[in-house]
Amino acid sequence: MPMRVRLWGVRGSLPAPMIPAVIETREREILELFIDSKYSKKAELSKFLDTLPVHTRGTFGGNTPCVSVESGNNQLIVDGGSGIRRLGYDLLRGPCGKGAGEVHILFTHFHWDHLIGVPFFVPVFIPGNVIHVYAVQDGVESVFRTLFKKPFFPVEYEMLGARFVYHKLEPRKPVKFGLLTVTPYQLDHPDPCWGFKFECGGKVFSHCVDTECTRVTRDQLGLDLPLYQGVDLMTFDAQYTLMETIEKMNWGHAAASLGLDIAMREGVKKVVFMHHDPASSDEKIAAAELQARQYYKGQLKNAKRAGLQAQEVDWCFGKEDMEFEL
Ligand SMILES: [Zn+2]
Ligand SMILES: [Zn+2]
Repeated sequence: MPMRVRLWGVRGSLPAPMIPAVIETREREILELFIDSKYSKKAELSKFLDTLPVHTRGTFGGNTPCVSVESGNNQLIVDGGSGIRRLGYDLLRGPCGKGAGEVHILFTHFHWDHLIGVPFFVPVFIPGNVIHVYAVQDGVESVFRTLFKKPFFPVEYEMLGARFVYHKLEPRKPVKFGLLTVTPYQLDHPDPCWGFKFECGGKVFSHCVDTECTRVTRDQLGLDLPLYQGVDLMTFDAQYTLMETIEKMNWGHAAASLGLDIAMREGVKKVVFMHHDPASSDEKIAAAELQARQYYKGQLKNAKRAGLQAQEVDWCFGKEDMEFEL
């Protein structure tokens, strides 16, 4: 049974919707490019749009982190950033819409950007639904009671239709959810934060967001090294450019180059970078991707020259609604 991973939110720290002026500038640019292109017919519009890069055609997305992992009838959600709102609407088409749903949400940590969507996740208001919440951290129930508390939110915790059930995860101890096995490993982020390794039918997806990745070598990673080993798909924190990680040391986020170094060394097959800075325009994210591309090519060349092993990696910067099948 394949494992499907979908990105419902790839922005970090704070939702960052596109503003009207940016949309209008983009529309004008697209129309000018179309007029100057070899295409002229309505029927060719999709073909033309496919030639445009993400930052010209649309956007990387403004919702904060939420990722779904599915295999067969088993679905796990990672984090409740603003991206979980649309996932909630999607779930209403199934048992959740009838008050017969069981939802499983794993939390990496409880910074606002990973929690902010939960009060807008409609299944929590429907009586009969059960929302299972999983985390390594203690005190999760009090986090949720605070989230649904006046004056922060008009619906109090006791008034919610769904029932919340809290589950404690143990560090580096696998848990089975039907076909899916999940193991939490620690990331390098304040308060703290845990990444998850999902395994299903011999395929592996590792979610490594949020992390500054201050531990890079195998020795430094120690007990958390397996998070990066034998991985088919890895989501990794790329909030900053390499220069910005120096300026923003201890802010808890990484640059794509760090993820690429680990992926090349450990043989990760595909990497998708996310948790884009809310202060970054789509153009800036695209420029960071280009910079990372140069870094990646340089690292491969250097490794070859030195006779060292560095595996080629398929990678890209993540965009909201991207879906991967493993
Ligand atoms: Zn975050
Ligand atoms: Zn965080």
